[in-house]
Amino acid sequence: MKRRDFLVGLGAAASTAATGGLSAAIVGCAPKTDRALGGGFVDDGGARGHRLRDRMPMPAPRRTVRVPVVVIGGGMAGLSAAWWLQRAGMRDFVVLELEDHAGGNARWGENEVSRYPWAAHYVPVPGPRAVHVRELFAEMGVLRPDGSWDERMLCFAPQERVFAQGRWREGLEATLALSSGGVEEAKRFRGHVDRFHASGEFTIPSALGRRPSPLDALPFGEWLRREGFRSPAFLWYMEYGCRDDYGALPADTSAWAGIHYHASRDADPGPLTWPEGNGHITRHLLSRVGDRVHTGAPVHRVERAGPGVRVLAGDTEYLADAAVWAAPSFLASRLVEGAPAVDFTYSPWLTANLTLDRLPRESGFPLSWDNVLLHSQALGYVDATHQSIATREDRSVWTYYWALAHQPPRQARETLLRRPWGAWAELILADLERAHPDIRRCVSRVDVMRMGHAMVRPTPGFLASPARAALASAAGPVFYAHSDLSGLSLFEEAQHGGITAAERVLARLGGRSPAAVPTAQGATAR
Ligand SMILES: Cc1cc2nc3c(=O)[nH]c(=O)nc-3n(C[C@H](O)[C@H](O)[C@H](O)COP(=O)(O)OP(=O)(O)OC[C@H]3O[C@@H](n4cnc5c(N)ncnc54)[C@H](O)[C@@H]3O)c2cc1C
Repeated sequence: MKRRDFLVGLGAAASTAATGGLSAAIVGCAPKTDRALGGGFVDDGGARGHRLRDRMPMPAPRRTVRVPVVVIGGGMAGLSAAWWLQRAGMRDFVVLELEDHAGGNARWGENEVSRYPWAAHYVPVPGPRAVHVRELFAEMGVLRPDGSWDERMLCFAPQERVFAQGRWREGLEATLALSSGGVEEAKRFRGHVDRFHASGEFTIPSALGRRPSPLDALPFGEWLRREGFRSPAFLWYMEYGCRDDYGALPADTSAWAGIHYHASRDADPGPLTWPEGNGHITRHLLSRVGDRVHTGAPVHRVERAGPGVRVLAGDTEYLADAAVWAAPSFLASRLVEGAPAVDFTYSPWLTANLTLDRLPRESGFPLSWDNVLLHSQALGYVDATHQSIATREDRSVWTYYWALAHQPPRQARETLLRRPWGAWAELILADLERAHPDIRRCVSRVDVMRMGHAMVRPTPGFLASPARAALASAAGPVFYAHSDLSGLSLFEEAQHGGITAAERVLARLGGRSPAAVPTAQGATAR
């Protein structure tokens, strides 16, 4: 998670080892544990999503609601749009969310041990150009009036470790020394990154600096090859980054996106994180606009109605002046009248929350916030109780992340649906067992979330996609906000999409936006 930082402060080390991937065997039986293991699948919206996909018949509307603005999708983009409308003084809107809980990829859970994330779990300290993120964090008290950050929310040390060659080691940088040339190649890569950063093209939000780039058409794996990167350790590190950021392998990621992660941010004091991850931000936004969020309300049709828009959700018809589409863009092609066909690829993911009744045995560097296993197809786990200020934690919840990058997305989605919970639990425990031999005696529950279209994949050519351009510049009455339009699945991009769409709604309705919020270009936002 701090990969861009470790490239800055490369340490010296030497060792030899091969890197590689563990092939996950398909296991069809229940996990082998000494005691009954609780848990199951927790994804609640899949059936509703599939009804939309399969164009199942929907009820005829039985009631009509007139409201100036409808926001479709209650993830970070939709909630940010609502937050911005409200700051502009508009209270007349509704947010319609398919799932039973708002938040999308920033949803969270809670049990007797801790709150925990279901997906997004941190936001890097925002740079000066991310003005609206800073504004939100000031409102939340994360950014103090004196410009300092609340240190309870800055990730505590130790932040990151990696399990390699039989023990835990501090930081992902430890892996660079595991094959010859790794450290040198990382230094050389850093030189590229510095030049890309200085170009001003790689920014957060990405819209501030993005311009047509030949790097968009090139696979990142090919760019690495052309630049002469060969060290298995360094290439593993790049591969891990693509899986972590985009749920994809370097061959399936554009060079523009592969570089963006490293070149887009200024040095920062570390990630901001909370036990429930970005669910903390969701909770704050819901405290502001939650009374207008309707959950369990999948939208099945959006069509023009005179100068305005008609939105159908369940048995309710909403007649509005404008709408914000903050659900994934591929659904717009199916559900929004006149929306272009979207050619985006989405990466399937699986996350699991493991409830630990006691902490397992291990050897080497101590438990950190982010814990990565080198020879794994998964991405490791984040410790939910890491930010606890208790002097001793005997129990915890670990959030295990697995981007199904090694199969084509359609096949991976089939695997997600077909493989039973017990088989997933077994694969997860077998993976962790290599680093924690007694893990099976420590875990009481494994709850699994399957996300078929978890995040957009910035494939080669993504930025040049005509559908992307058409949605991003839509003239209304439907405005598009989902983070997938940026190609970068990040909180900052979702917020930017939501606020931009809200601005356009306000302009269409002749409303006012919050006064004099400076943008990165020095103009004022409106
Ligand atoms: C495993 C994982 C880990 C991640 N970790 C991080 C992280 O640490 N930091 C970070 O910044 N980002 C992370 N992300 C990226 C995350 O996607 C973004 O940060 C952000 O939360 C995306 O917000 P969004 O609103 O654009 O999209 P989504 O979260 O996809 O929200 C879209 C919403 O629309 C709803 N919806 C869909 N169809 C309909 C319909 N027909 N009617 C009504 N509602 C509908 C969905 O249920 C959902 O709530 C992660 C993503 C994943 C998958």
